[in-house]
Amino acid sequence: MEMNELIAERRKLAWREELRKSHSPKERTAIARAQMPELDPQYRITTLTEEVNQGLTEEQALVEARRCLDCAKPTCMEGCPVGIHIPSFIKEIERGNFAAAASTLRETTSLPAVCGRVCPQERQCESRCVYQTMKKPAVAIGYLERFAADWAREHNAVEMPTLAPPTGKKIAVVGSGPAGLSFAGDMAKLGYEVVVFEALHEIGGVLKYGIPEYRLPNKVVDAEIELLKQMGVSFETNTIIGATLSYDDLHEMGFSGLFVGSGAGLPNFMNIPGENLIGVMSSNEYLTRVNLMNAGDPDSETPVFRGQHVAVIGGGNTAMDSVRTAKRLGAERAMIVYRRSEEEMPARLEEIAHAKEEGVEFLTLHNPIEYLADERGHVAKMRLQKMELGEPDPSGRRKPIPIEGAIEEIPVEVVVVSIGVSPNPLIPNTFSGLNVTPKGTIVVNELGATDLPDVYAGGDIVRGGATVILAMGDGRRAAANMHRYLSGN
Ligand code: FAD
Ligand code: SF4
Repeated sequence: MEMNELIAERRKLAWREELRKSHSPKERTAIARAQMPELDPQYRITTLTEEVNQGLTEEQALVEARRCLDCAKPTCMEGCPVGIHIPSFIKEIERGNFAAAASTLRETTSLPAVCGRVCPQERQCESRCVYQTMKKPAVAIGYLERFAADWAREHNAVEMPTLAPPTGKKIAVVGSGPAGLSFAGDMAKLGYEVVVFEALHEIGGVLKYGIPEYRLPNKVVDAEIELLKQMGVSFETNTIIGATLSYDDLHEMGFSGLFVGSGAGLPNFMNIPGENLIGVMSSNEYLTRVNLMNAGDPDSETPVFRGQHVAVIGGGNTAMDSVRTAKRLGAERAMIVYRRSEEEMPARLEEIAHAKEEGVEFLTLHNPIEYLADERGHVAKMRLQKMELGEPDPSGRRKPIPIEGAIEEIPVEVVVVSIGVSPNPLIPNTFSGLNVTPKGTIVVNELGATDLPDVYAGGDIVRGGATVILAMGDGRRAAANMHRYLSGN
């Protein structure tokens, strides 16, 4: 059935018609948007692990779901990269059938509890909600998605998907981030034996090593991994494809297809003087050590430098995660240094707001030009060039221009460089025959297929740094198309 027909069919269900009539649009639009319960900022900066957003209560979710008008043309769905049946799951919540809401989400997304927490909803589904045209806050679609997914997990109501009979074919997945996990889940459902190879000792990719626990608890990611294991997916950690095992090794091991979801974990640097000093590091190093190696604990074998003055360079989600981590590790002055203004910051609005509540300082329109050392070779100061905004550049954002002579020096003991990432180069370099762009991303066609007939790819290794939901959507698309290819269609 076509998507539009399915939406119309579901909308015609008797219970849905009844529910629509139970409150007038005027009553629905008069309800204020739910406020997410949050930990107090003064308390939360003392804990690396407790989640800031506490999730809607059942009462809040029921009321928020009532705000949704169950539009005949749900424009919100056009803003969702994986086409979640948004009004369908929200109306299930409104009638109190939370398990059915979670099942509806599972039709199109394999990581609803993750996406409900980290998706930039304000730029996706919620930006297209009809409430925006009324100049009212959008229905809190992300909060409701998280509510339904958490409810199902906490009540052991996550349905085990129906698995097709075994095809007898084995599939290898490189990388266990959202692209690899969603691909693995879909292939397992289609009856394939799936093995996920992961270079690190932990499964989950950025969901584990990048995004901190206070924003995305590990138990949420682990529940998804557990479900995949129950579906028969197996995981081989500490295995680097392209080093531990080659492309040829995988063929010899009997794999008929390969999905590359190896991500973009190679940090970019500015190449300015002093970037090699002790105390200057990438956000990848900083976050991975704290999140996966317990380096926030001073008694661990490899603790990170703490520092009272910590500068994080950049304005994206990774920068916010790093600076908020620094605050939690006790920094007195935790600073974001960003060369444009706050308006151009790519980070989610919620992350910026949370960082400010936690006392993070924002040095916008500032750009580091040099780091200076103390007598031990440890970073002690940074020199910042003040900027102003000029005309828009090719990205559409106003270009930062240095203000001549406007330079200041600020004391710092830790600098975390968070100005973007590049694709992990190992697979592009070791799989001969792949078409790779000058930026190092793997080229795929509209089916997610690479130039090697049995190799598909998706997520950040193709997009060069994007979002969880886009990586997940790539994994799903590649699974559907690899299945067609392997079944001879
Ligand atoms: P990854 O998640 O990077 O996973 C790739 C995996 O492949 C890794 O585990 C890696 O170890 C493994 N690997 C690499 N090479 C090999 C190899 N040769 N052999 C075996 N394994 C290999 N997006 C959002 O939507 N919302 C957010 O709030 C958000 N916050 C972020 C915060 C941080 C700190 C970071 C770094 C990113 C954030 N993102 C966010 C972006 C998002 O996490 C990524 O776009 C997404 O994780 C990409 O998924 P992926 O599966 O392509 O790659
Ligand atoms: Fe509900 Fe907004 Fe989607 Fe309409 S656009 S169906 S009100 S979430």
